Amino acid sequence: MASVLLVDDRRDNLVALEAILEPLGHELVSVTSGEDALRELLHREVTVILLDVQMPGLDGFETAALIKRRTRTRDVPIIFVTAISKQREHVFRGYSAGAVDYLFKPFDPDVLRSKVSAFVDLQHKTEELRRQQAELRERQLDEVRRAEQQRYRELAEAMPQIVWVSDPEGKATYYNQRWFDYTGLEPATAGDADWRFVVHPDDLQKALKVRKRTLASGEEFEVEYRFRSATGEYRWHLDRAVAMRDEHGAIDHWVGTATDIHDQKRSAVVLRFLLDASSLLGSTLDYRETLRSLARLAVPSMADWCAIEIVEEDGTVSEVEVAHSDPNKVALARELRDRYAPFHGPGPAVIESGEPQLIPDITDEMLVRVAQDELHLELLRDLRFRSYLCVPMLIRGRVLGAITLVQAESEQMYAVEDLALAQDLAGRAAVAIENARLHRQAQEQAQAARVLESIGDGVVLVDDDGLVRLWNPAAQAITGLRDADVVGRRLADVAPGWPEAGEGRSSTLPLELDGRELWLSVSGVRFTDGTVYAFRDLTDERRLEAMRQDLVATVSHELRTPLAAIYGAAMTLQRPDIEFEEDVKARLLEIVVDESNRLADIVNDLLLASQLDAGTLQPAIEATDAASLAQSVLDAARTHAPAEVELELEAPTPVPQVAADPGQLRQVLANLVDNAVKYSPQGGRIAVQLEQSGDRLRIAVNDPGVGIPAGEQQRIFEKFYRLDPDMTQGIGGTGLGLYICSELVRRVSGRIWVESQEGEGSTFFVELPLARKRAEVHAA
Ligand code: ADP
Repeated sequence: MASVLLVDDRRDNLVALEAILEPLGHELVSVTSGEDALRELLHREVTVILLDVQMPGLDGFETAALIKRRTRTRDVPIIFVTAISKQREHVFRGYSAGAVDYLFKPFDPDVLRSKVSAFVDLQHKTEELRRQQAELRERQLDEVRRAEQQRYRELAEAMPQIVWVSDPEGKATYYNQRWFDYTGLEPATAGDADWRFVVHPDDLQKALKVRKRTLASGEEFEVEYRFRSATGEYRWHLDRAVAMRDEHGAIDHWVGTATDIHDQKRSAVVLRFLLDASSLLGSTLDYRETLRSLARLAVPSMADWCAIEIVEEDGTVSEVEVAHSDPNKVALARELRDRYAPFHGPGPAVIESGEPQLIPDITDEMLVRVAQDELHLELLRDLRFRSYLCVPMLIRGRVLGAITLVQAESEQMYAVEDLALAQDLAGRAAVAIENARLHRQAQEQAQAARVLESIGDGVVLVDDDGLVRLWNPAAQAITGLRDADVVGRRLADVAPGWPEAGEGRSSTLPLELDGRELWLSVSGVRFTDGTVYAFRDLTDERRLEAMRQDLVATVSHELRTPLAAIYGAAMTLQRPDIEFEEDVKARLLEIVVDESNRLADIVNDLLLASQLDAGTLQPAIEATDAASLAQSVLDAARTHAPAEVELELEAPTPVPQVAADPGQLRQVLANLVDNAVKYSPQGGRIAVQLEQSGDRLRIAVNDPGVGIPAGEQQRIFEKFYRLDPDMTQGIGGTGLGLYICSELVRRVSGRIWVESQEGEGSTFFVELPLARKRAEVHAA
């Protein structure tokens, strides 16, 4: 039904209009102002408006202009009703304000009725037309939409990504073929929430949360999660969905894509891991600790399990670390391995062969094959090993160990790229181990070098060609051969007679080195590139040992002779059957006394020598008259000396005093005179000569006796040294006399030496510093 809005400020006009239009049967709405008309139009559909021009407040033109400004009322025909404004400009203003017609008062009811009818008709027709056009457009749009949708589907099917569509509530209404290919799900049985079953359990909560939020807000959905593939492997995907809205802005559906970003994501993780691993491997020289940290670092970004084994320097293989994020699992794995030896994992085999192993997919049959019994199989299955790789730690063709990476519960599978990565990592680890070991070796070598420098034993290193490679400072000191003269030469040439290396045994032997005879104790040990010898100088020990043996021999011999004489005399005197005459008795007693003195002398000499050795005998130096001392020594000697010996003092008077210990000087002179007598068995003239020589006094004891061979003249001053019995013609002695003399003389800054020709007598010289004169002493 049409409705006609009547607008006039005068009630009577409105009543008239209503009466005229009544018969048309339209709805008539009357208002008395422009404002009321506008208000009415807000909530009412109007077909035609009859508008009075002259009104207080908004007049007709102003009201029309406002009606035209509104979209909803713009096309409603307006007929102005006016009595006065017949002027031309007035009419124009009405048309420009949107009027379609004018009615002038007083109006003909028929004209009014027919005009309103015509406009209502026109208005109805226009609306009908508009409706038909809208319908047509809708149909065409539908067609276009269907075609578009078809195109989208085709596009979606062709895309390499997974594409899906869901309703506004998020229920899936479409998946492209790629989805079914990847997941292995069947299009026929596809459900609207299938995705929940293939998302990795660890990622599901996060996905659900984002989904809930975006479904409510309509903002873009974006989340990364892992989808399980038909083979059971989880791969990272980036899922993105946008809301498609209808013309009213409401969400009509969601279009989503899931892109496989597994490899990118992995390379980011791998890169991060490699960076961390590299800095770790370079950080310390404690390579065991480093490898342990490396294993722990690999879990879980690179593996669920990481085991590292190394080849020790003795060639055995030992496990450095087994890492898993769950310590209970590590314990289980260890127990399993210990209980089910020799099931070790691939490490030892890879170390043995140097070849990497990659098993992308550990099948149940494989577990069955390695399992040793039902329980073992069950435990192995519990560990859910999925995929593994094992790479050798290689450096310059040598295998230093192996790294094993295992995927289990994360359901990841290793591929050839992972193998390459692991090999790279293992290579870096090998370099780190090698560096640490070389560093330690270098340190040990430096230490060894320092030890060799300071060690007291001589050390020689001889290579396989017999050439000397090392000659340490002690070797130089012992042999007197400088390393520059030895290193690089053959040891056999440098030291002829050098012993062969015997295992751990040392041999003691004399060697002629550089014209000197040395007694060396040498032990040699062979090593891969040659032999190391250690040696020490036993020359002194050897000499002492020889002397000790001499001492025992001579002393016991020397003691036995007087003892035998004393014993013999005493036994004789004791005999009751013989009545001795007085002079015989006296002779026997004299033997006892003399031989006892001799014994006492020997014991004295021994005592003196040991005091000299111990350094407990200090001289009491004073101005001493050597001449009178010599005289008294000679006088004493004369009492024992055989008759064929003459003893004389030759001294220009007066002789200056010497700085010496008088008691010790007497001992020296007595020894020399005794020797002179002893070693002149043919008798003859023995002279003690005193003579000043510069600031010294020289005492010479000259005998015509057996003499001393030139080669022995040095050595007779050594402790216990005696010429052999042939040369001394069986004359007894301890070999201590001259040693004592030389030690006593040396202690008072004197000198002692001998000049002799074998068979033509000897002269022993003692030179002593003169005592300072009293005046000098005062002056000093
Ligand atoms: P001893 O005389 O007790 O053997 P000494 O030390 O006094 O010991 O002398 C060492 C050696 O020197 C003697 O054994 C002897 O061979 C030699 N000797 C010492 N004095 C003489 C000498 N005047 N004439 C020849 N040989 C001597």
